[in-house]
Amino acid sequence: MTDVARDAFIDGRWAPGARRFTVRDPFDDALIAEVTAASEAQVDAAIEAATCAFPSWRATPGPERGRFLGQLAAAMLGAEARLAALCTRENGKPFKESVAEVRYAASFLSWFAGEAERAYGETIPASHPTQRITVVREPVGPCALITPWNFPYAMLTRKLGAALAAGCTVIAKPAEETPLGTLALAQLAHEIGLPAGVFNVVPTDDPERIAGRLLGSRAIRKISFTGSTAVGRIILRNAADDLKRVSLELGGNAPFVVLADADLDAAVAGAMIAKFRNSGQSCVAANRFILEEPIAEPFTRQLVAAIGQLVIGRGSDPGVDLGPLIDDASVRKVTRLVGDAIGKGARVVHGVPPDGSGRLVAPIVLDRITPDMAVWREEIFGPVVALRTASDQTDALAQANDTEYGLVAYVYTRDGRTQARFAEALEAGMVGVNEGLVSTAQAPFGGIKHSGLGREGSRHGLEDYTNLKYISKRI
Ligand code: NAD
Repeated sequence: MTDVARDAFIDGRWAPGARRFTVRDPFDDALIAEVTAASEAQVDAAIEAATCAFPSWRATPGPERGRFLGQLAAAMLGAEARLAALCTRENGKPFKESVAEVRYAASFLSWFAGEAERAYGETIPASHPTQRITVVREPVGPCALITPWNFPYAMLTRKLGAALAAGCTVIAKPAEETPLGTLALAQLAHEIGLPAGVFNVVPTDDPERIAGRLLGSRAIRKISFTGSTAVGRIILRNAADDLKRVSLELGGNAPFVVLADADLDAAVAGAMIAKFRNSGQSCVAANRFILEEPIAEPFTRQLVAAIGQLVIGRGSDPGVDLGPLIDDASVRKVTRLVGDAIGKGARVVHGVPPDGSGRLVAPIVLDRITPDMAVWREEIFGPVVALRTASDQTDALAQANDTEYGLVAYVYTRDGRTQARFAEALEAGMVGVNEGLVSTAQAPFGGIKHSGLGREGSRHGLEDYTNLKYISKRI
């Protein structure tokens, strides 16, 4: 690909580096681009650019900042086919999912374009007659945004939209597998005339060193990270010395509970979305299916029939539903999880256990899952359906909450009181009731327990990039 941006983007300019790293197509390892590996001096330059641009960006009226975000959203949608093709190329997901991701990503920019006008403060009745209490929201300062490969556009815009709306400047560090989407967005930002230094990008294949440089800088006032829980812990620890604000969107282990009275068609349709989007490589992927006994057999039968319709192949080929996994380590992990489960007594209901060769992993359905199996405890990140039965609703709820993660939980039931009870009792930041896809720009996305800190999207997403300042005035 000769037409993609491939250098660091610092202070409104493309910045080639002395060293480059390769970005490859996960389907066949074909070379897509050689991208600048940002040096520490370039990271320092990006920090300097974001710091210098901050005073004028924060002073730019909210509605004007919002107009930039609206223009960037429009530019994304205008370049939808090109951006989607790039995403399919570097991430491997089916083209139709890439198109959906571009639209989803643009929706965060549109949402925060509006929120930029609504960073409201408050006035508070004081106890003394001559005191006036006002509270205003101020941007936290230059921010570092660290994003994963599984949704390269959306995981960036969820942060970028909120940060820019709040008046913060940013340095984005994309995942080494998928830096091209972030650079394409920087290109669009440049084209719409976003002021230099407001949005900088430092690609790298050495995230520990580059993130360390960002975390070590006093000028960076906030780190927003989306990725694994293991790396999230490192970020939190490293942010402690300088007491930086930290947002962490981490891993999940979502339960997908189907109760005996569920609408079977709706439950299967929801399961297909919740399990197979991005070949299961999603933080909100259904990881543990918990089926109340009377519905277990019909649900499994209908789910297997739906899975039988899925087409697996190269993401750019028409009609493909499942693309390759991102890399060989992911294939090895899924192979290990399936092998461990079968070794401990799981039964293969559909499919063939992966042998660890090739990036295309066909769906596999396992039942007789037990809690000692790794597939039950770990985030699968692949097209593996792990089924377990529950004797009743109490058992289903206990199983659902038996995890250290708490990002999202799904429950299917027709009964309104049961819906309310499960919605309250499920330990997760988000709950889908008769719903397999909860993500939307209007709602607060985020987890509890080991799934993270903070919220993205919604008005709460903006709050994560602002400090409250209380002003006491005597009259
Ligand atoms: P990852 O943690 O390996 O990498 C995420 C980012 O962190 C990348 O940019 C990577 O370069 C960087 N990184 C890696 N090591 C680092 C280090 N030592 N210091 C600083 N940065 C470092 O995760 P991944 O494999 O890219 O993504 C998959 C994970 O992300 C899954 O656990 C998934 O659940 C999670 N995720 C969570 C959400 C959410 O919103 N909660 C969304 C998408 C993905």
